[in-house]
Amino acid sequence: MGTGLSKSFSLPPAIAASGGWSLTSTTAIIASSGSTTGLIWGFILHPVSHQHHTTYVHDATACEECDLLIPATPLEVGQASCCPRCGHTLSRHLPQQELRPISYGFAALIMFVLANAFTFMSFSAKGVGQEMTFLQSITTLVDEGYLFLGAVLSLTLIGLPLVYMGSIMLVLWRVDKDLHSNALRSLGRLLCRIKPWLMVDVFLVGVLISLVKLMGMADIKMGLSFWAFVGYTVLLIKMISSLDQMWLWQRLFGPTEAREIDPEAGALESGLVGCHICGALSEVGSHSCSRCGGKLHARKPGGLNRTWALLFTSAILYIPANVYPIMDTVFLGDDSPSTILGGVVLLWAMGSYPIAAVIFFASVVVPLVKILALFWLCYMVQRGNVTSPLGKLKLYRMTEFVGRWSMIDVFVVAILAGLIRLDNLMTIYPGPAAVAFAGVVLITMVAAMSFDSRLIWDLQQGERERE
Ligand SMILES: [Zn+2]
Ligand SMILES: [Zn+2]
Repeated sequence: MGTGLSKSFSLPPAIAASGGWSLTSTTAIIASSGSTTGLIWGFILHPVSHQHHTTYVHDATACEECDLLIPATPLEVGQASCCPRCGHTLSRHLPQQELRPISYGFAALIMFVLANAFTFMSFSAKGVGQEMTFLQSITTLVDEGYLFLGAVLSLTLIGLPLVYMGSIMLVLWRVDKDLHSNALRSLGRLLCRIKPWLMVDVFLVGVLISLVKLMGMADIKMGLSFWAFVGYTVLLIKMISSLDQMWLWQRLFGPTEAREIDPEAGALESGLVGCHICGALSEVGSHSCSRCGGKLHARKPGGLNRTWALLFTSAILYIPANVYPIMDTVFLGDDSPSTILGGVVLLWAMGSYPIAAVIFFASVVVPLVKILALFWLCYMVQRGNVTSPLGKLKLYRMTEFVGRWSMIDVFVVAILAGLIRLDNLMTIYPGPAAVAFAGVVLITMVAAMSFDSRLIWDLQQGERERE
């Protein structure tokens, strides 16, 4: 384990011959990576590994992003299948998928306990010092009356990751046993829904930026809990990436019924709809997926209107987020509030060019570009523009990918406010813009999720039918 594994792919002739389905473009080889720690934990928990299959055949499905029908595809360990039209990864056959997520989850839980047990960060300046625990970055916000921010941080850093780790471990532990299947379905669906909202990695980058911000004025030390938090972040990310959603549903409830599909057609035009949670195909008009029980929509409900409304809301919130101070520094009784841009200018003047650039990019450019890009995509779809669907899809993927990283500045404010609390010398308070800014980031994330990228490809379909 641990080294890159690449095997070439070969298909049984029966499958290779059915329909002009090109194999080289539908499969991509991914490298499998391993970790000794995970395997040691895994061995302690699961002395006997349940690896029944060396080849896993994922179910026929519809691409989540462009709606193309994809036939059932056999995958060796370390291989992934990708949509031949848009390149979206449909399913991956990862090594030891029953063992690794449990092991990583267990190790991450231990790291989480340690991250809360000791000092997270400490600083000293001019003979006075202060220590902060991880939880203090959240409790300070609540004490200052920022309940919404406190709730956002508690959920994205503690609540949702714990629910996620707990559900994965419970689901995989009960995989061959008789857990009430509806409970298992609900847990599985919960896993898929909360994944985009886990932000421990963004928080970690926020910690590093706070560190650079403070370096000029104080002596900063990272406590034991900081290193445990690094471990918690790494293990949580490893856990998320060691489990494939389609594999999990097939493992839990078996393969879907075999169907005759046209691998060059879209699902909707063939009268089918793909489940966005487990990938199973159902007839158009079915309300819920027969395998995972998730709600089925041929296209996301609300259409473009929901995305438009969310985008306008976040565009309006973007104004107070930039006009009001995001942070207020009280130094020897002197009040100096600073806005997001003010903070960037100050960092630049201090000579911290890379950090100033990161904050400027993450807090000013990314939210604005993301809102504009989504507006443009909605406008293009509404106008029926058919040029460059793949280019549009790539732009959409980018807005989805970068969105959560804009939370960095909110986390930096939370950390600085939690750490710098010297009553008579210097105290940092969060400002009203922090709430507005968190609102911008979260609402644009929901806006991006509510946009249905399959609409871009529906236009191509309409165009082809007219020809
Ligand atoms: Zn696709
Ligand atoms: Zn489903």
